[in-house]
Amino acid sequence: MADTPTTAAEHAAPNGRPLEVKAPPGHSLVAHQVHGWCSKCPGIELWEELYAWRNRERAAQTDAPFTDLAPAASREVERHG
Ligand SMILES: [Zn+2]
Repeated sequence: MADTPTTAAEHAAPNGRPLEVKAPPGHSLVAHQVHGWCSKCPGIELWEELYAWRNRERAAQTDAPFTDLAPAASREVERHG
């Protein structure tokens, strides 16, 4: 709402970066909104954006493991591996 006072936290992504409402043409809007950058930005590679998304999702888990590597093969891998 336009007349509702806002705080700095409402304009920041979970990582504290300023929340961007726009992204340059051809860039990921959601990545800019969440991370403040995307893999289309100069100097950023695709793996860096993937890594940022993984870290964000992992941090949101209540029992977040130190690593997101699966401790054992899934049933699908056991069946086809
Ligand atoms: Zn970008």
